[in-house]
Amino acid sequence: MVEHPAVDFLRQAHSRAEGLARAAHSYKLVAAPGSPSPDGWVVDEALCLLKAGAPTAEFIVGYGPSTVLRRVGVERRILAEHKPVEAVGYDGYGVAVIDTCDLCGSQYAPYPCRTVLLLAAGWGWTEGSE
Ligand SMILES: [Zn+2]
Repeated sequence: MVEHPAVDFLRQAHSRAEGLARAAHSYKLVAAPGSPSPDGWVVDEALCLLKAGAPTAEFIVGYGPSTVLRRVGVERRILAEHKPVEAVGYDGYGVAVIDTCDLCGSQYAPYPCRTVLLLAAGWGWTEGSE
């Protein structure tokens, strides 16, 4: 079965993010990233001392590699639950065997379902991304 371009895009985004996050985790840090100081200084994952406003510094500390790895893991589980299955349904022209979502599919909703498309959109997918 050929994967829908949005699903392929999502899997590639997961692999790319996972690879970058694991590489970032492999650094032996001399100064561990920590909580931003009240004046906005923070050491980021590349050991750059950043002068940033407190919200920016908190963002950098809070959304590092472990957050990305956790998010990718959860999204892969969601994608596994929303897998395609064949069903008799409407293909836009008439009754036919179509791929629909195993979890939330409908005979009128071809795969990928809205959940999978929204996951892909979160990584930058648009209909023109094909
Ligand atoms: Zn679904």
